[in-house]
Amino acid sequence: MSDRMPDRYPVARPSISALEERYVLDAVRSGWVSSQGPYLRDFEERFALRCAAGTAVATSNGTVGLHLVLAAAGIGPGDEVIIPALTYVATANAVAYCGARAICVDVLPQSWCIDPAAVRAAIGPRTRAVIAVDLYGHPADYPALRDLCQRHGLLLVADAAESFGAALDGSPAGSLADATTFSFFGNKVITSGEGGCVTTSDAELADRMRLLRNQGMDPQRRYYFPVLGYNYRMTNLCAALLCAQLDRADEIIAERDRVIAGYEEHLAGEAQLSPQPVLPGVRRAPWMAAFLVGPEGDATSRDALAGTLDRLGVETRPFFVPIPELPPHHDPTADCPVTTDLSRRGINLPTYAELTEPEVKTVAERVRAALATIDRHR
Ligand SMILES: *Cc1c(COP(=O)(O)O)cnc(C)c1O
Repeated sequence: MSDRMPDRYPVARPSISALEERYVLDAVRSGWVSSQGPYLRDFEERFALRCAAGTAVATSNGTVGLHLVLAAAGIGPGDEVIIPALTYVATANAVAYCGARAICVDVLPQSWCIDPAAVRAAIGPRTRAVIAVDLYGHPADYPALRDLCQRHGLLLVADAAESFGAALDGSPAGSLADATTFSFFGNKVITSGEGGCVTTSDAELADRMRLLRNQGMDPQRRYYFPVLGYNYRMTNLCAALLCAQLDRADEIIAERDRVIAGYEEHLAGEAQLSPQPVLPGVRRAPWMAAFLVGPEGDATSRDALAGTLDRLGVETRPFFVPIPELPPHHDPTADCPVTTDLSRRGINLPTYAELTEPEVKTVAERVRAALATIDRHR
């Protein structure tokens, strides 16, 4: 067994079985390779059902899904959209694509997700929407955010790119906000290589998204384009892959849960590591095992650990750089101390369904060995 273990562990790997091959081959042979076909219809229907949402609109990736929601809601120049400072750049980019301004607020140390009190403080006359992000698979505080958005007449968008399979008090990701966007990039919980989807129970918003996804073409009149739209369609090939991933979703999620639980168990005694916190009522999606390195304020241990692990054959990922520190979204006035600290201390470990129990143990042992060397150099 151990001689079959690889020397290097990638941080992510898609789980592709014979079923995916069969569906994709079937789609290729059917001739429905573009953005129409039976797998697309099937995927949208099944995805909406699984997410307990009224409908699902498949897109070519998660970023354009975010842009599609904002564009369909009419968000444009002069508008402000509140987002967490700790997220992948796509959340902020989608706002900028509309000509609107992303206002970054801090996250909570208990969930690593957007702080509703900080959202409330950031609401002003130009605020039109809030995008909450389910960071590393943990749902944001949607009951508080829904309440706030309702009172102020704001659109609530959930960026659930990392949280397919999560739930809050029994309600699945995809049903917790006015609209929810998903990503099926190669490292996400389920994948179509590139791909995305928006779920909503607002039929009017869904119609508008379908119109804009298809270059703005009038559904009643071919080649008549009453509005400026986009080509944000998903292909039937991607949908075929996703139909197989949906068939296997429970199995994939269970395997990824096992990997994360394995790390948490093997690394429980490490004083230098703290696992991702999970709030009561939360079913976290097992996207990527996430830990914080060192005590609060430690700005060097994470990178030292990552460097040592790389030499030991374990690929890791640092947490996202705070959005206000990125040149296209630069904002020196943003005050986000929790984000800054998490961004410096957070690390992701290899997480994929095919990682066996002995391999999880090996990775954890290498993490322990690496922690011991950085401790010695302190
Ligand atoms: C992956 C991701 C996206 C979108 O990703 P695409 O690569 O465009 O599919 C958006 N937001 C977050 C938080 C993500 O992690």
